Amino acid sequence: MKNVGVIGTGYVGLTHGAILAEKGNNVICYDIDREKIERLHKGQIPIYEPGLEQLVRKNLGEQRLEFTTNKDFCIKESDILFICVNTPPKQSTGGLRKADLSYVEHAARDIAEKMNGYKIVVDKSTVPIRTGEKIYETLKKFHPPHNFDVVSNPEFLREGRAVEDSMNPDRIVIGVMRDGEGNLLETPLENMRELYQNFNTKIVETDIWSAELIKLAANAYLANQVSFINKIAELCAATGADVSEVAKGMRLDRRIGQYAFLNAGIGFGGSCFPKDIESLHNIMMEEQINPELLKQVLEVNNAQKYYFLKMIEEGLWTIRDKQIAALGLAFKPDTDDMREAPSIEIVNKLNDEGAKVRVYDPKAMEQARSHFGDNVTYAKNLEEAVIGTDAIVLITEWDEFKNMDLESTKKMMNTPANFFDGRNVFNPKKMSEIGFYYYSIGRPHIEPRKENKKQ
Ligand code: NAD
Repeated sequence: MKNVGVIGTGYVGLTHGAILAEKGNNVICYDIDREKIERLHKGQIPIYEPGLEQLVRKNLGEQRLEFTTNKDFCIKESDILFICVNTPPKQSTGGLRKADLSYVEHAARDIAEKMNGYKIVVDKSTVPIRTGEKIYETLKKFHPPHNFDVVSNPEFLREGRAVEDSMNPDRIVIGVMRDGEGNLLETPLENMRELYQNFNTKIVETDIWSAELIKLAANAYLANQVSFINKIAELCAATGADVSEVAKGMRLDRRIGQYAFLNAGIGFGGSCFPKDIESLHNIMMEEQINPELLKQVLEVNNAQKYYFLKMIEEGLWTIRDKQIAALGLAFKPDTDDMREAPSIEIVNKLNDEGAKVRVYDPKAMEQARSHFGDNVTYAKNLEEAVIGTDAIVLITEWDEFKNMDLESTKKMMNTPANFFDGRNVFNPKKMSEIGFYYYSIGRPHIEPRKENKKQ
């Protein structure tokens, strides 16, 4: 059992803190956001993440988890301090954005000022390579009277599956500094091994820089797969092939594998992939390594939204005054997070073109208001979103949409009923039988079966 402090109580910090408490540690989560901490004191979760609320309430009740705005208390009471603050993208001179590390620096300075004994300072925020070194130097500059070690322990959770992923991670990466002889420092390693001993998974012990790069490289690799299949989808659309069939055939190759990220669609968004790939791109530029591959991944991803918009325009001919239901606003299902969600650009563009857009998301309606203001209509539920519309534009594949009653949806819509499926959720043949004009990514567009055309 360890005394753990978590600095930054967002998607990562809150989940990590709750999981470590669940594993029996004493955890204090600190955040500068007072409102967030007040809500957490009452057991209210400021984000939507399946299973997290129960976990937080249970561990609050069992007094292994505390929330505070008092950094002094958090730092002094903890032996291991996790930095889980945001590292948002900021504009850089080279065009693509860099990670803003000012929040990380702040956290490191706070620790340096308040530490009252040996501390292990663990960076969990996603950062460029060699940030661990900067954290180390920052701590040292304050001449703390106590020893410390710096560790990199990148986070791989997926929003929407954060609890599940954190309970059963594919691997835990622990990066520590080396001693004068090139060996990994044993004290921080030993402590981290103990902390994670009840997790049934592989632990990768490595140096700090490799740990930092594992995170960025993994995200860039996954994003690469998404852009790759989207490019193949474009080719499918041009030639009449079906990208779902192509991906199915590819996945059966064991070197590719059934979990490969080969779902064609309107591309990735979120607070991680775009930012992390841009960050890796900039690091390569700084090291004078050709970053073209990563640039292409981003360009293909960005183009995907416009490809989808063009498909909508071609399907509807003109967009002005068309009633359109935009379904799914979060950047992916099972989260309320709209950071860099493709929905933002798609809805805004439809709006600019004069469509009457009605938006609906099972969990991200509050966030949507800050993006779309009074420009769209906010539906209270799926039915209210689709009734009397000319087109459905499916942006995020929530289960609620996957399981929607397509027959009654079709009946509620105007004729002709157009369905633009940005995530290839439905079976084209079935959609045709129901009577939709059905458009998806990298698959042939389908008209309603003749007898259903006028229904
Ligand atoms: P977030 O924005 O949800 O949370 C960050 C929190 O840190 C906020 O509550 C903010 O108030 C707090 N904070 C900022 N500066 C602080 C300071 N000096 N002291 C105390 N609190 C402070 O961010 P997130 O999504 O949890 O991401 C955190 C980090 O983890 C980022 O680097 C991100 O790239 C990385 N990451 C995120 C995910 C994800 O799915 N969200 C997955 C893996 C890694």
